Amino acid sequence: MTGVIFDYVEKYRFRKVVLCHNADCGLKAVVAIHSTDLGPATGGLRMWTYETEEAAIMDAMRLGRGMTYKYAAAGLNLGGGKAVIIGDPRTQKTEALIRAMGRFIQSLHGEYQTGEDVGTTLADMELLYQETEYVVTLPEYCGGAGNIGPATAFGVQQAMKACAQEVWGSDSLQGRTVALQGLGAVGWPALEGLVKEGAVVTVADIDPAKVERARREFGVKAVPAAEIHAQPVDIYGPYALGAVINDRTIPELSCKIVCGSANNQLAEERHGTLLQEKGILYAPDYIANAGGTIFDTDRLQKGGFNRERAWANVARIRERMAELIAISKREKIPTWLAADRLAERRLAMACHLRMI
Ligand code: NAD
Repeated sequence: MTGVIFDYVEKYRFRKVVLCHNADCGLKAVVAIHSTDLGPATGGLRMWTYETEEAAIMDAMRLGRGMTYKYAAAGLNLGGGKAVIIGDPRTQKTEALIRAMGRFIQSLHGEYQTGEDVGTTLADMELLYQETEYVVTLPEYCGGAGNIGPATAFGVQQAMKACAQEVWGSDSLQGRTVALQGLGAVGWPALEGLVKEGAVVTVADIDPAKVERARREFGVKAVPAAEIHAQPVDIYGPYALGAVINDRTIPELSCKIVCGSANNQLAEERHGTLLQEKGILYAPDYIANAGGTIFDTDRLQKGGFNRERAWANVARIRERMAELIAISKREKIPTWLAADRLAERRLAMACHLRMI
């Protein structure tokens, strides 16, 4: 007998996958705990409509495994996990449903801790917090870090500087041209940071009000959303959607660096290799965009949230990016693979330590 779920659990050595069910409030959810080698499995709680229950379980597992790599490479002592509630967040989300989920999370006694994700909000996190202490992302008045967009943007800028050092021999972004795609929670503070550093930014967003505001406040040039990736610039920064590096866009790219906050920028891993062949340095998304989570999870350290320490740790993304560029050159592998190696080495280190 074969099945995709147990095959995946075995192939990627999941610690456990928990199904949560409560008929009274209609809760059907999955908690996928991939690894606790470095610390408690941590990752957001997603609420989404899935075609099948199998698709929901696979999504939780795929995302949970991604979190293991993200935390390991970011130098955090956290493992990877993810939870998904099956349902439409606009019509099926109730207080009872969220609180029931909180009780399931509590029953795992800290093996998994959660946060905001697609389909859940900070307000949902407050509700969860009434049932479980294992919630990381919280508003400031509950002891959380609050809005993490600026920290994510700052981290991406550090990765950009490491890439600039490699490509031009100087980490300064003064006078560098940047095509910035998406002016949202991360893209907007990214624009502020880049302009402050003297970069010449061209922007695009599908929301004309945001583009207009950027023009008015920063005097930047704007282009249609469909053309931003093809601008002849030094750096292309995806801050909106995933899968923007694909068979269609790669031939149109005219930049030396791709570095932004968007998750899953490569449509497929081979597209990262194609970038390298084209002479474009790619900053792997989960390395560049870890600033928000580094900032957010600082409250789990001794003494609770410390803003100064949190920012200092976000700034280390620059060193990490430089380290993986070095691995990529030494081992003659693309940067996306070097990022995985960096994470796997840290995980192996944690396993060895435990044996001492
Ligand atoms: P957001 O929803 O606040 O902003 C996204 C922006 O992109 C919006 O302004 C939207 O109008 C615009 N947009 C959508 N489609 C577009 C297109 N085709 N062309 C140009 N603009 C388009 O999201 P966010 O929180 O800023 O996150 C942006 C990306 O960064 C996402 O991929 C997210 O997963 C990732 N990310 C965010 C954080 C964080 O701290 N918020 C952390 C890590 C990764």
